[in-house]
Amino acid sequence: MSRGITPRAQGVHPSTLALFARQEDPIRVGTQFDVAFDLSCPHGCEEEPVALTLQEPGGASRIMKAPLANHPAQFELTAPTEAGAHTWQFDVAPSGHDGLFHEASSMSLTVDVVPHAASVAVWALPDAVISGRPFNIKVGATSTAGRAIAGQTIIIHDIDGEEVGRTTLGDTAWPDTVGLLWAEVELRAPDQPGVATFAASLVVERLKLPHETTACTFTVPVTAAPEHCVTVTVVDATTGAPLPDTLVRIGAYRSTTGDNGMVTLHVPKGSAEVVVWKTGYDAPDCPIEIVADKAIKISATAVPEDDPDAHWKG
Ligand SMILES: [Zn+2]
Repeated sequence: MSRGITPRAQGVHPSTLALFARQEDPIRVGTQFDVAFDLSCPHGCEEEPVALTLQEPGGASRIMKAPLANHPAQFELTAPTEAGAHTWQFDVAPSGHDGLFHEASSMSLTVDVVPHAASVAVWALPDAVISGRPFNIKVGATSTAGRAIAGQTIIIHDIDGEEVGRTTLGDTAWPDTVGLLWAEVELRAPDQPGVATFAASLVVERLKLPHETTACTFTVPVTAAPEHCVTVTVVDATTGAPLPDTLVRIGAYRSTTGDNGMVTLHVPKGSAEVVVWKTGYDAPDCPIEIVADKAIKISATAVPEDDPDAHWKG
């Protein structure tokens, strides 16, 4: 189409400002997003860009240019830092020259701006902790706001909702993750043995970007404090000789006997099995009740060795 061939129209035409497309993803507080408009004339006119006043949700306004054309124009808008429905108002001024005028047009765009989303992770949990003792875990969080959550707080609550620890997220991501900011936190095991349940949550306090976060629940087995000594002496059932280098296990605690066939383990109160293990010997598991320090003797019986070289020896 060339103006040389098509004579310029005359008169007053309406103009239409309409939304063409906007970003489909949730629009998060404080982020930029794209919208595209059609500013058009029903007669199909193509004109130089005209002034368009954009009034932003906060009340500020700015003047932009938009072409009256048959193709959409794209703008970048910035969402406020408060969640909720926000409205942008667009007004196109009347325009025209050489006998052809286009009327004003306007439209508004209301966007539901949503908080950022963050999720919390916990790792490096100990296999078990001793009641009343401190232990360390690692906590981290990712956010749709990226590293903006650096310096924010992770709070750990126990199952009763009491705060039992807090830490501050660092500003470097855990290796091989996409933006998992992390920190270490020290907690204290409950006094009662069992399974302790905790919840880690992100608290976005000093950052003017509202977040919706989901707490991360985790559990840690708690064992009783080892408050008693059990001395185990392992002897050869036939000769009565002490058996050194014998593995002795009482519950979760283990060690090996010395040259005198003895080992002392610090163990919690309660019922337990004493299990001894030495190559070439067989010994029964020995149930004990631990209410105080005690000493026990276990006789291990020599059994024929499976050692294929045995017949070359002695
Ligand atoms: Zn027109």
